[in-house]
Amino acid sequence: MTGDTTFTRIAEFPYSAEAQIVKGKLESAGIETFLRDAVTIDSDPLLSHAIGGVKLFVRTDDVPRALAILAEVHLFPVEDTAAPFCPQCGDRYPIPDETPTGILRRLFSSVTRYQCPKCGKKFKA
Ligand SMILES: [Zn+2]
Repeated sequence: MTGDTTFTRIAEFPYSAEAQIVKGKLESAGIETFLRDAVTIDSDPLLSHAIGGVKLFVRTDDVPRALAILAEVHLFPVEDTAAPFCPQCGDRYPIPDETPTGILRRLFSSVTRYQCPKCGKKFKA
């Protein structure tokens, strides 16, 4: 805390589900975040495009760290601290199902569905 409360927008998401995933990831790294327009878009998803999606802000001081974490989110499973092994080929780091259905399923159930980057097998964690 430096007394500097300037926030910088670092990302936009079409749905708050995706924004919440990234928000959780950043907060687990100790980075304070807030979302703008998440409630609006949750109540009417059709508005998302019109108002530019859900905006993710972090403290300006945290921008470099936050961007580094955002880059990781795209490379590795979002909920990865213990990524499962692929049951078919045994590869590590299976990628979560990133279709909107997969993301929503992950949010609203405790089951994470993964897709192996090597053999393409889909499986539950
Ligand atoms: Zn595999």
